[in-house]
Amino acid sequence: MSYARVLSVGLLGVTGHVVEVEADLSPGLPAVVLTGLPDTSLHEARDRVRAAVVNSGQTWPNRRITVNLLPAALPKHGSAFDLAMAVAMLVSAGELPSAALEGVVLLGELGLDGAVRPVRGVLPMVAAAAGAGLRRVIVPLANAREATVVPGMAVAAVDSLRRLVDFMRDGAPLLEPPPSDEAPPPPGPDLADVAGQEMGRYGLEVAAAGGHHLALFGAPGAGKTMLAERLPTILPELDDAAALEVTALQSIAGVLPLDGRLIRRPPFQAPHHTASSAALVGGGSGLARPGALSLAHRGVLFLDEAAEIPSATLQALRQPLETGRVVLARARGTTEFPARVQLVLAANPCPCASPAGDQHCTCAPAVRRRYLAKLSGPLLDRIDIRLTLAPLSAAQLTTATEPATSSAEIAARVVQARAAAAKRWSDGGWRLNAEVPGPVLRRAPWRLPPADTADLRESLDKGLLSARGFDRVLRLAWTISDLDGLDRPGRSEVSEAIQLRMGESNAR
Ligand SMILES: [Zn+2]
Repeated sequence: MSYARVLSVGLLGVTGHVVEVEADLSPGLPAVVLTGLPDTSLHEARDRVRAAVVNSGQTWPNRRITVNLLPAALPKHGSAFDLAMAVAMLVSAGELPSAALEGVVLLGELGLDGAVRPVRGVLPMVAAAAGAGLRRVIVPLANAREATVVPGMAVAAVDSLRRLVDFMRDGAPLLEPPPSDEAPPPPGPDLADVAGQEMGRYGLEVAAAGGHHLALFGAPGAGKTMLAERLPTILPELDDAAALEVTALQSIAGVLPLDGRLIRRPPFQAPHHTASSAALVGGGSGLARPGALSLAHRGVLFLDEAAEIPSATLQALRQPLETGRVVLARARGTTEFPARVQLVLAANPCPCASPAGDQHCTCAPAVRRRYLAKLSGPLLDRIDIRLTLAPLSAAQLTTATEPATSSAEIAARVVQARAAAAKRWSDGGWRLNAEVPGPVLRRAPWRLPPADTADLRESLDKGLLSARGFDRVLRLAWTISDLDGLDRPGRSEVSEAIQLRMGESNAR
């Protein structure tokens, strides 16, 4: 036999595609020719595969070997094809029988010594194989738990090329995936831990219920980070499809915990304000890595010290926040990652960042105004809730009267409020109040009676609120009404919404 075909999977963004790895031996000068749109990182695979084969005690076919990756139009990145390439070459050279690999997908990078090393993105690769009707997969041992997350897949693991060769030649056993972790995940932070900050806690609840982006202004130590990192704890758990997406993105980024479980909690990402655009949106050579924006997909992106973020970085965030996806330019075409995030932005009110707040601020009024102005175009315009948090006094922290409401209790209210909103907007195809266009809220049948919007119209007339801000207050009023179990917002819900909107008067 001088021809062989082995199955593997390539990734484009988060989507896997089954790839056929063909090997063909022909007379001629010894060489390996790689065809089928491989990237430069794949060309290095030739040397890795050759060393791994020789160091596994196998005979390297000293002829001209053509390795072709199909479909040819699909760009191929990364090192996950190594194992399939090595096996295809050995089978085409007549060194190995191929019967044991009928319908089996091979994934894994080879070390020079013949060890099979883990690769990024095994979960979406195995999911793609399952979607293509394949039922058996052989993966690196370190990725085996992750592969078992995909239902209906028989997963076997290997730690070396030698083990796979022995399996194909003599039927020696492969390795079993380690069992999944049975222990429940450790409890995360809880809103019950946050003393004081009633307004901040309420803003968080409204943000969760309506899907509203949120901005928190306040001096250092006011609890902005404490609040932000607790938003995921009051969001609904991810459904199956969303959990698979989120887990797949972590798999591709190489940050998936090795417990063999789907991620059910909405993720939380807090990139530093000095993070590069690439760290935020993703990129890198070979198999592209998702950035913080995509790792926060279906969860929360927290931008602390937002006023310190360079303008170029803010610019890089603009498009993904609008479209819910990141498009990366690659050597061959583009790669896309999803990035549907709930944004929480935090900023000090001014550059001096006095922990005591405004009383000790040494900044000139013009400096204070300019400090936040940079945010107003790209980010603040999308944000419904703007709160200024007062510095917490020692008295507030120590004289806790009763324990604050727990995340679980608030999460239950959020689920109910979301259900009410989803039912109301189902005809328009919106699920969350934050998604409903302003004109819809200002028209019958959803227009509120003039008596209930009097305060709102007054704020608009006085210039305290922009036209866009007017619509955002209406959205918030609906969310507050949903949380209170009302049919529609009345005057007091509108008034509360105005308070949630006008937290930072500098940033109208
Ligand atoms: Zn200041």
